[in-house]
Amino acid sequence: MSGRLVYPWSEALLQYRFRHDHPLDPDRLRLTYVLSDMVGLLDESVEVVEPPAATREELGLFHSAEFIDAVRACDGPDYYDRRHGIGTPDNPAFREIYEAATRYVGATLEAAKRMVQGTRMAFCISGGLHHAQRSEASGFCVFNDVVIAINYIQQERPCKVLYFDFDAHHGDGVQNAFYRTPDVLTVSVHQSGRTLFPGTGHVFEYGAGEGTGYSVNVPLSPGAGDAELIRVFNEVVIPLSKSYRPDLLVTQLGVDGHFLDPLAQLAYTSTGYEHVLRGLVELAKTCEMGWLALGGGGYHPVNVARLWTLFLALMLARDVPRDLPEEFVAMCREDGYRSFPTTFRDTGQVPQMYVSAGTVAAALDRTLARLHKEVFPYHGLA
Ligand SMILES: [Zn+2]
Repeated sequence: MSGRLVYPWSEALLQYRFRHDHPLDPDRLRLTYVLSDMVGLLDESVEVVEPPAATREELGLFHSAEFIDAVRACDGPDYYDRRHGIGTPDNPAFREIYEAATRYVGATLEAAKRMVQGTRMAFCISGGLHHAQRSEASGFCVFNDVVIAINYIQQERPCKVLYFDFDAHHGDGVQNAFYRTPDVLTVSVHQSGRTLFPGTGHVFEYGAGEGTGYSVNVPLSPGAGDAELIRVFNEVVIPLSKSYRPDLLVTQLGVDGHFLDPLAQLAYTSTGYEHVLRGLVELAKTCEMGWLALGGGGYHPVNVARLWTLFLALMLARDVPRDLPEEFVAMCREDGYRSFPTTFRDTGQVPQMYVSAGTVAAALDRTLARLHKEVFPYHGLA
């Protein structure tokens, strides 16, 4: 049993790079690591581990042999394989795609292996590629490190997993993988599929067969913010975790729901995230195997860096200063970033978005009422 938080990290992870103009810029990871280090969080309470790439056999914990071969066959930017989602606008082909994608899986798996050995907390910022399907790359995600890690852990040590995903996009790949089992309870809160990729994540998708009731979706209207995020955490995640009693918490902490993010239309701030992170810290204490935290979306690199550094501080029961270090701000400016917040926590007004607060709240009322009626009874909750 180790009291230190495991943080998989390697410069080689930065080679997962589709194209220079693709939104999934590896700079988001580099800046997060640099900032977390600069404010002193990567000290003796954190074990930074250099992860090996995943093996082909490990990829096979989820993916089909045919798909693994297809990714491996990719030889450069002109490669196109519609069936397997490679060479599409979302997932452009690049020569080292197989190596880069197996490194991402390796990083999350390293955290998973440590947890099987007794580590109680890990944060893998490169992980959380929740859209990848068994035989198809999707939404910037080639291999699904989340599913591979959960399958690995459950193979080594049977356990009940609560997967909570607050990325702006529905965690479809993870949901699909565990749709028919009660051994993984997936809970995703996201901008509704009516207005955002991947188009799924409706309330009526609540599992099948033995897994009926064990996929939970809370779609939000564009413009939803902290009030909605906090309400979903308090009224859905907390009661479900109490009835489900997971052995392990796995979270996808994509921050593309932040109001500054360019790809989605949600309006979370650091206040909402902080509430949820503090709640997850408490929830993890009730899980025998602890908490495997993963990254996810987030397409404003400096914003991602400050939020994931704040998350790390909260996981470690530490705090961050009010302002980002001057040295970090100067570095970001030198690197060409012009407009970004210079404090860890958001201050001031969030711009009003799209629809009235009342409309957003009323939509969530209806969604929660449906969940109570259709899904909560599977958990003995009314
Ligand atoms: Zn996302």
